[in-house]
Amino acid sequence: MIGRHDAGELRRLAHAVADLVVDHHLGLTTASPGRRARPADLAWLDEPAPRDPTPADAVLSQVTGGILPHLLKADHPRSFAGVPGPADPVAALADALATGLNLTTVNWSLAAGPSQVELVTAGWLAAALGMPAGSGGVFTSGGSVANLTAIAVARDRLGPPPHDRVPIVYHGDQAHPSVGRALRVLGFAPDQIRVLPCDDDRLVPDAVRAAVTADRAAGRRPLMVIATAGTTNTGTVDPLAELSRVCRDEGLWFHVDGAFGAAAALGTRGSPRLDGLSEADSITVDPHKWLFQPFGLGCLLLREPGALAGTFHLGSDYLTAMHDPGQSRDLGTSGIEYTRPFRAFRLWFTIKVHGLDAVRDAVDRGLALASHLAAEVRGRPGFELLTGPRLAVVCFTHRAAGHDARAHQRISDRLLDLTPGSLLLPTRVAGRPCFRACTINPRTTGQDLDTLLDQIEQLAVTEPERHDGPPSTATPDPSEGRRCPQAGH
Ligand SMILES: *Cc1c(COP(=O)(O)O)cnc(C)c1O
Repeated sequence: MIGRHDAGELRRLAHAVADLVVDHHLGLTTASPGRRARPADLAWLDEPAPRDPTPADAVLSQVTGGILPHLLKADHPRSFAGVPGPADPVAALADALATGLNLTTVNWSLAAGPSQVELVTAGWLAAALGMPAGSGGVFTSGGSVANLTAIAVARDRLGPPPHDRVPIVYHGDQAHPSVGRALRVLGFAPDQIRVLPCDDDRLVPDAVRAAVTADRAAGRRPLMVIATAGTTNTGTVDPLAELSRVCRDEGLWFHVDGAFGAAAALGTRGSPRLDGLSEADSITVDPHKWLFQPFGLGCLLLREPGALAGTFHLGSDYLTAMHDPGQSRDLGTSGIEYTRPFRAFRLWFTIKVHGLDAVRDAVDRGLALASHLAAEVRGRPGFELLTGPRLAVVCFTHRAAGHDARAHQRISDRLLDLTPGSLLLPTRVAGRPCFRACTINPRTTGQDLDTLLDQIEQLAVTEPERHDGPPSTATPDPSEGRRCPQAGH
């Protein structure tokens, strides 16, 4: 029952869970990232909330037998889709500890130790990205919330609304869609947002300057520029140094969305490409992408982290008694969340256990893998490199797949079913269908990439048209999957 537990049973459950985590990580190099699920595979989950208890080991075997087979592993070394999540097991176990001890970072007076760890870890990240002393920030659930937090703080520089001149935000047409969503949620109207056309996926500084000048002349108030360090599609970095100069000249807030790419500044190969990053007023970075952390860890770093409390302060009789005077050490008033988990513990623990140099090496490895892939693509007849390596992203195609989006989709579907299997999704670059690989997983090998290209070549050249769509979309038996495979064990 809740509140009273059998010590032996609890310990057995703890060990079983720990073993599942460790076995997952030790088994990651095998087979394929997984297979696509059909809704019928998961129909057994649609049951009324059980009123009676089920032994924990039986529930765990339902998890391993009925849930875990139905997903694509983002941390598999041959998962190249989106931005993979190659979480380190040490980070995962640290997170299990933070949750297991129900640690929070809501405020300094209740949670001084965890709060200080988060503040220090944000400082480490800011320093690693080259930001000046005194920079710091707040950890969030991900990059979307970090971007939203940055925009809210930047807008607050204008004081409370209504504003005498309409504030305007500038970003490129390759910005992550979470930027547009954050602006919408914060109440920016479409006519306050300038989505500027990119040139080869990069914002054009002169175009930003011209748009700012035009808005000022029309009596509006240019507020901020949102640049991207590592677009999700092609890994392209905006010209950060030039954009920071535009922002300085024009008195605008300079935010860099480096959710994916800012981590490249930790590598020795990536840093020159991120020239100007350290000039930003604020930077979004997602440790749950290229800093090898489990999902649920984003971060907003600011030159003046004290500005967070100005935007997110709270007041009430019972809260005041718990607050740090000035609130600058209270993380529950440094962002939109109040009660919040101790989410940076996993990153602090990772950096302590492995050392920052190991993180740098792992970032470098991702950059080297992308270079290897691009070189192979360039060197093999039949293949064509469209973009890259840009950070750890390479976009390429095989001539036999031509400009046919369906051929790319078909090859992508088949790649997952092969042994070894890979998760490689198609995209478009400048309207042209191609494959996109993001190589940030330090467990990926050069051999994995060579095999991938061999397989694509074979599928592109020999795969007959009749292999339309993935075999897993075959018509399901509607009654199938109603029962969990492991239920009752
Ligand atoms: C992933 C990503 C985001 C969104 O971050 P989440 O952690 O998914 O919320 C924002 N911007 C860029 C450039 C990204 O790659």
